[in-house]
Amino acid sequence: MRADNHGVSHLKRVTKPDGRRVAFDLQVMLLVIAMVLVLGALATSLEIHAVLLILTAVLGGCLVLQLVVGRRHGISASNRWRHLASHDALTGLPNRATFIDRLERSWGRSGEVAVLYIDLDGFKAVNDTLGHAVGDDLLIEVAKRLSHGLRERDVAARFGGDEFVAFLADCGRADALDVAERLRVLLSAPYRLNGREVVISASIGVCPPGIGVEPTDAMHCADLALYRAKEEGRDVVREFDAGLAQDTDLWAAAAEELATALRNDALRLVYQPEVDLITGDVVAVEALLRTETLSQSALPLDRLITALEERGLGTQLTEWVLDHALADAAHWRSLGWEGRVTINVSGRALGEGDLVAQVTHALRRHHLPGEALTLEFPESGLKGLREGSARVLDRLRDMGVAATLDDFGSGTSSLDLLRRFPWDYLKVERSLVTDDAGLAVPLARLCAELGHIVIAEGIETHDQLDEQRLAGVRRGQGYLLAAPLRPEDLQVVLAVGSVVLPA
Ligand code: C2E
Ligand code: MG
Ligand code: MG
Repeated sequence: MRADNHGVSHLKRVTKPDGRRVAFDLQVMLLVIAMVLVLGALATSLEIHAVLLILTAVLGGCLVLQLVVGRRHGISASNRWRHLASHDALTGLPNRATFIDRLERSWGRSGEVAVLYIDLDGFKAVNDTLGHAVGDDLLIEVAKRLSHGLRERDVAARFGGDEFVAFLADCGRADALDVAERLRVLLSAPYRLNGREVVISASIGVCPPGIGVEPTDAMHCADLALYRAKEEGRDVVREFDAGLAQDTDLWAAAAEELATALRNDALRLVYQPEVDLITGDVVAVEALLRTETLSQSALPLDRLITALEERGLGTQLTEWVLDHALADAAHWRSLGWEGRVTINVSGRALGEGDLVAQVTHALRRHHLPGEALTLEFPESGLKGLREGSARVLDRLRDMGVAATLDDFGSGTSSLDLLRRFPWDYLKVERSLVTDDAGLAVPLARLCAELGHIVIAEGIETHDQLDEQRLAGVRRGQGYLLAAPLRPEDLQVVLAVGSVVLPA
């Protein structure tokens, strides 16, 4: 995320002489040579022929010189632009798309590919206490150490935030673990940044060679191993193992099942009321995805949906949810309910595809105004989005569609996201609502002062409800207020328009 903010200044850091100008000069020169040759062909006198010949020779010489200079700086005409599109602007490492492309190519050539997922422990604290500039410098330094710690044929990439990935080609299991351990030590050595010493550690998840059919399977496995590393106390290397493999088989099967359900239109939506904490009025309802079998699965739905998106089905899912949720909304509105229906959309949809067109089309199809809809983006999916993504939200807001930052406070750059995107609502993450560290009041105050409407999610107990009310939070969601309901059950609640609040 910070990479994008600093993208402009970083152009200076990663770019060599201006490739566009070289290309332009070459084009002008070729044009002039062509004109001189045409004039030469048309000229009648011998002297003019001779002068034009000399001119052509001089221009030709310049052309060769230009090409040599361009080469020496590593510039073929469009190299720089290609580099910017395929690399992370802050660190200069390959970006996600480039990494996957190279992994796929390497995968085809050799079965011995290990994938490493690397995450810095406590990066948020560095950003919060020392500022984003130091955070950026730290990420650049981490990228350098990673590059030094790997062999020529290995590839490291930054996926956004403090999330780095690497693959090791032609590498056995023991080597992969050795490299991972070496990287952990390398990344955990103190950093000298802006005149001060910064100490941070790294957690690494390793998917050894021979696991997974597709490169994305290996990425999932490494991610899962990293997840465990974080759970197990951080500053460790965790290898993907049989126990995790079992989970992953289950997980891949469930993701496939979800994809099949989407293709066969076998999904359904349940709706959880968002309630006014004083009056009990149902001010909005959040659509949550379900399939019959997934409801029995112990696997987290958001991770399954991420897997679905990685299979290229994200746009299709958003379209399905928009269509069905707006059909329900149109029905409830026809019965007199005026609240918004909220749908969850991943941050990817802001960066890829045409979300504005999708939403416009769906609203038109169901004859609804933009005021009938809120789009909710989980904080975790907003990492690494470009500034242009904020304009997508602006355009949606112009249509009356509201935007919610979901799971606010769960990630590493919550405050940065407030600055960069125009949110209507902040839905505070469940762990902060259930937390007893007294964060509810200051957090609600901060959000209110910044002009955002706060929604507390995951209210399960009377104490939590009271605490949110005391903190001045007016909207909430959670099992204590209302569980996610099937549309036919929700209709009964909406007919009344409110839920009975616990005394
Ligand atoms: P979310 O958007 O933060 O949704 C809230 C989750 O918390 C839901 O889980 C809901 O059932 C659960 N929940 C609600 N009240 C309580 C409570 O009081 N206590 C506890 N412990 N949990 C509560 P669910 O339905 O499993 O959804 C999980 C996540 O999956 C969602 O988190 C959202 O990020 C994602 N998701 C769900 N439906 C969709 C969808 O249609 N599209 C996309 N892109 N993501 C979706
Ligand atoms: Mg949500
Ligand atoms: Mg949430």
